[in-house]
Amino acid sequence: MMRWRGGEQSGNLEDRRRMSPRGVAVGGGAMLLIMVLALVFGIDPQQLNQVIDQGGGAGGGAAVEERELTPEEIEQRDFTATVLRFTERVWDEQLPSIGRRYDPPKMVLFSQQVRTGCGVAPSAVGPFYCPMDRTVYLDPTFFEELQQKLGGSKAEFSQAYVIAHEVGHHVQNLLGYSDLVNQKRQTLPAEEFNKWSVRLELQADYLAGVWAHYGQREFNFIEPGDVESAITSANAIGDDRLQKRSTGFTSPENYTHGTSEQRVRWFTEGLKTGDLGRLEEIFRVPYERL
Ligand SMILES: [Zn+2]
Repeated sequence: MMRWRGGEQSGNLEDRRRMSPRGVAVGGGAMLLIMVLALVFGIDPQQLNQVIDQGGGAGGGAAVEERELTPEEIEQRDFTATVLRFTERVWDEQLPSIGRRYDPPKMVLFSQQVRTGCGVAPSAVGPFYCPMDRTVYLDPTFFEELQQKLGGSKAEFSQAYVIAHEVGHHVQNLLGYSDLVNQKRQTLPAEEFNKWSVRLELQADYLAGVWAHYGQREFNFIEPGDVESAITSANAIGDDRLQKRSTGFTSPENYTHGTSEQRVRWFTEGLKTGDLGRLEEIFRVPYERL
């Protein structure tokens, strides 16, 4: 069982679910009531609109209602903040071994949709990292789906893997690998670019494995046989969500990822070795041997 309760939490997590557009229906009703009261009591509706607008901002301009988080949501937040803190501690310690300094990403929890430096994103895109604002975005209902599919300790490990993979994309951004692949997107035909996108994804999985190598000592979260089903499920849910998505929003998670087998293999390599010296290898090894 994963040991995370009571652990140190990151200060870089922002929870925007309290300002969720989920409240719009309630907000609409409440607003109608206010308008009626305003008419009855002779208050200027223009003034009221200003007050209501000030409460908004998180949901793309729609009226947004602030609400209390449920106990489950608070648990998701504590879990995420604890895992995020542990990524900060590991990368703070490990990046200097390859001559780099770690500057941690921000992380935002949201529900339904979120405004990001990469555009407005619906939940359907799944967890993603936006390099423009150096932020990981996650709608924790993704975690609920993992919980339903896996249950218990596998689900917790799987959730930690999802966070570590996205933080892995941030590490790639700091190390220049994201830029390298981005340049290829502009110069290569789609099919060739896809291969570089696969390398980037497998390297993020390797980085998640390196993190878990150090995390295992602290969290003891991996049980024999868990890794394959946990990673495969996390990625299957991500792919299902992508198929449902209906906007033009793109993130690295929208591209080709490599097979489940490749992803488990590179994660496991990182987990076994904890060796950052092998990052280059994932970009150099012949594509067929990945
Ligand atoms: Zn990814």
